[in-house]
Amino acid sequence: MDKITAIRGFKDVLPEDARLFWEVESIARKVFNAFGFREIRVPIMEKTELFKRSIGETTDIVEKEMYTFADRDNEHLTLRPEATASVIRAYIEHNMSSAEPITKLFTIGPMFRRERPQKGRFRQFNQIDVELFGEDKPQFDAEIIFMLMHFLTGSGLKDLELEINSLGCSGCRPVFSRAVIDFLKGSEKSLCPDCQRRINTNPLRVFDCKVETCASTIANAPGILDFLCSDCEDHFSKVKSFLSDLNISFIINPRMVRGLDYYTRTAFEVKTNALGAQNAVAGGGRYNGLVSELGGPEVPGIGFAVGFERLIACLPEDANNKFRTDLFVAALGAPAQKIAFGLINRLRIAGMAAEMDHTDKSLKAQLKRADKLNSSFALIFGDKEIDEKQVVLRNMQTKDQQTIPLDGLQESIIKIIKER
Ligand SMILES: [Zn+2]
Ligand SMILES: [Zn+2]
Repeated sequence: MDKITAIRGFKDVLPEDARLFWEVESIARKVFNAFGFREIRVPIMEKTELFKRSIGETTDIVEKEMYTFADRDNEHLTLRPEATASVIRAYIEHNMSSAEPITKLFTIGPMFRRERPQKGRFRQFNQIDVELFGEDKPQFDAEIIFMLMHFLTGSGLKDLELEINSLGCSGCRPVFSRAVIDFLKGSEKSLCPDCQRRINTNPLRVFDCKVETCASTIANAPGILDFLCSDCEDHFSKVKSFLSDLNISFIINPRMVRGLDYYTRTAFEVKTNALGAQNAVAGGGRYNGLVSELGGPEVPGIGFAVGFERLIACLPEDANNKFRTDLFVAALGAPAQKIAFGLINRLRIAGMAAEMDHTDKSLKAQLKRADKLNSSFALIFGDKEIDEKQVVLRNMQTKDQQTIPLDGLQESIIKIIKER
């Protein structure tokens, strides 16, 4: 029979990676909690309209990459391509703004985009998503960036580079957009078909375009920072100064516009050189009009997303993805195996990772298995040890051995493992 394989662009997270996911997630939860963020779990599917309205109709995501289909009652549904829209939808739906003037939320889970499959890119990928609603003060921008940097460093990422920019507001950005359109006038031919088509609806998209000729054409375009109104300029300079107060170094990148329509004012990206080339591991920004755009109150917001797969790929080689076993019991003969069976299961409910081999393999073969399982200790005993009422505990790293009385064995082992 033919094998059934996973869908193209979708992949299994195998145990070694899953362990890293778990480790990174627990660091995220710990850091975010300390900064007052609470977890929210939103569905992976939403009405298509939500993403069209939030991400913008003329974006690559909405135009080409969403998994959208008609449900049986012909309602159009989409597998979420990002989490911000869903979190805002939930924030509005549950009227969270009335309970909490400043609402801090995070969510972790899979997103879906039908991109062309290529190395390191998947159609189902995972993100850590953080959103803060209710405040426009620059302290919050600095704080959320500080938290992001702290989380990424805490995960083990090295060589991080933070880039920041301001994308202006609904007052000053249109002036900038107009200037970009004027700048691109006459150069339309060197733009890719997508950029040509969007030049009047969404000219800033050219900054994000990966096509070589688009990139070289836009290279000398005006920069947004020359167009900021005085409020936006003041906001941006305060963000910079608060970041400096927190000892966070940054690079100002006036060409970073971030791919989504909804960003206003502060935008940021974190890159790392860990894989040889520069890779973005996280990005985000402020979106002051988005909540009301989606039918909610006039509430400012700011957030970021971390690409889980990218983060894990950028972790140093020695990342802690090895499974560890606390104790392997090498039991020789039926009486010893019977004692071992009860022992490992009691140790497990006491929180120890304990294993044994339910076969009659030689001691040598069993110790080999203990090594394979990365076991810290091996407990060795057979008929003779049962008669003498004492067993041998071997430290698998140092190879030191000690004898332990069979009486009170479980307590002695728990004590030794905990002291390790
Ligand atoms: Zn402005
Ligand atoms: Zn282009």
